Amino acid sequence: MASTGVIREIDNLGRITLPKELRDHLSMPAKTPIAIHVEGTRIILEKSNRACFLCGSTEDVKVLNGKGVCASCVEQIKAEL
Ligand SMILES: [Zn+2]
Repeated sequence: MASTGVIREIDNLGRITLPKELRDHLSMPAKTPIAIHVEGTRIILEKSNRACFLCGSTEDVKVLNGKGVCASCVEQIKAEL
């Protein structure tokens, strides 16, 4: 796992901010659901595939080839084809 070299402090409410460059690189807009795993002393944050990879919605999402896609985006794709 590559280190970003970024160090952030946890605030009084237990929150940290992920660097914008990292969120952009991993296509993680606001409201992206994150799965939290613990491995020993490591905390692993992973985009949840329960969210649509196109719009970030968590409603009516189906997983195709490991990526979530919502019904609304499926309908938009159908309309464009
Ligand atoms: Zn969508």
